[in-house]
This record gives sequence, C-alpha cells and structure tokens, in this order.
Amino acid sequence: MYSEVLPGIYRIFDTFVNVYLIDREEYIVAVDTGIDTTCDKILKTVEELGKPLKTIVLTHGHFDHTGSLRCLKEKTKALIAAHKDEEDLIFEKTGLMPEVKLNDGDVFEGLRVFHKPGHTSGSICLLDEVTKSLFVGDLVVEREGRLEEVPHQYSLDPKMNQKRIAELLEIDFENLLPAHGEPLIGNGKEKLRELVERLTL
Ligand SMILES: [Zn+2]
Ligand SMILES: [Zn+2]
Repeated sequence: MYSEVLPGIYRIFDTFVNVYLIDREEYIVAVDTGIDTTCDKILKTVEELGKPLKTIVLTHGHFDHTGSLRCLKEKTKALIAAHKDEEDLIFEKTGLMPEVKLNDGDVFEGLRVFHKPGHTSGSICLLDEVTKSLFVGDLVVEREGRLEEVPHQYSLDPKMNQKRIAELLEIDFENLLPAHGEPLIGNGKEKLRELVERLTL
C-alpha cells in the first residue's frame, strides 16, 4: 500500500496519484491528499507509522490533490497549509480554508516553499533540504522514466508553467517526487534537464 522512497519519506499511490508522507520524528506531514478514496490509505499508513498526522501541505487545489482533505481534517484535525493564492480554489473544491498561508521562500515543517504559478495560480514546489528532495506537485509528471509537462488542457497557463519548469533547474535537489508517475531518486535533476531541453521556451 505504501513504500518508503527515501529515508523517512513514504509514497502512497492511489489509482493515478501519489501522496507523500514525511516522518518528522514526533509527527507526520502529508504532501497532498489524493482523491476521495485515498483518505483510508493515508490513515492506515499513519497508524502503522505510529505517529499523528499533524500537518497537510497542499501543492495546489485540484481535486486529485485535495480529494481527501475534508476526510483527513475530520479524522485527524491536521493543520492545512497552502500558498495564499490557492486558498480560493481549495475552498471551492473542499469547503475548507487553509489555516497556514505560505509564501515563496518560507520554510515550513522543514520544507522550503517555491511559488511556481502556471498550472494554477498558487501552485508550489516543496524542497526537503535534508534529503534534497523536491515535491513538484503537477509542474511535471513522470512517464516511463521521462519527465513530461502536465497535459496543457489541465493548466491555467501552460506557457507560464513551462517557464516555471525551467526555473526548477536553479534549485539544489537530487530527487524529484511527482504527484503523477514514479519518483525519480538520485537522477531527478538530470531528468528535469532533459525535459527542459525538449521544451521550446
Ligand atoms: Zn493539478
Ligand atoms: Zn494532479
């Protein structure tokens, strides 16, 4: 049901989307919440890890990232964090408002926030500096060992998203953890560079 992709970072896959749980010693932090069926899978994993789910950080507000937000909020009372420009979309999808409003450059729960609007206006990427792991949300997706853009029809501004993808090369990371597809461990930066070279910016 779940796998440890890096020390203290767990991946839960549901149907077509990943949720990541990060072990922060005393508690667990979730990156996204998947679709509506993901709630039980997350709760079971949290129980196995034996620590409370304290915080949920949302990369953005789309239904496949916020689908279990309400269920998790009701069952765990976890704090919800997201970029301030995403709160309207999150409220529209879930009826919930994030309690923590993130800004570009913030470090929250050991994750550095990079505001990368394009896919949605408040899309963020999150860097775990200890393991050099970048949670990219939907900026890019993995398919058969390659990184690709998210299909353009799902993005608010695909051209802007392409620029944001190229900007990710400035970040010091090794592992790239997408919401869709397989995590790229060790070669995340290299695979991202290959994608940027294919883009016509
Ligand atoms: Zn999305
Ligand atoms: Zn998605």
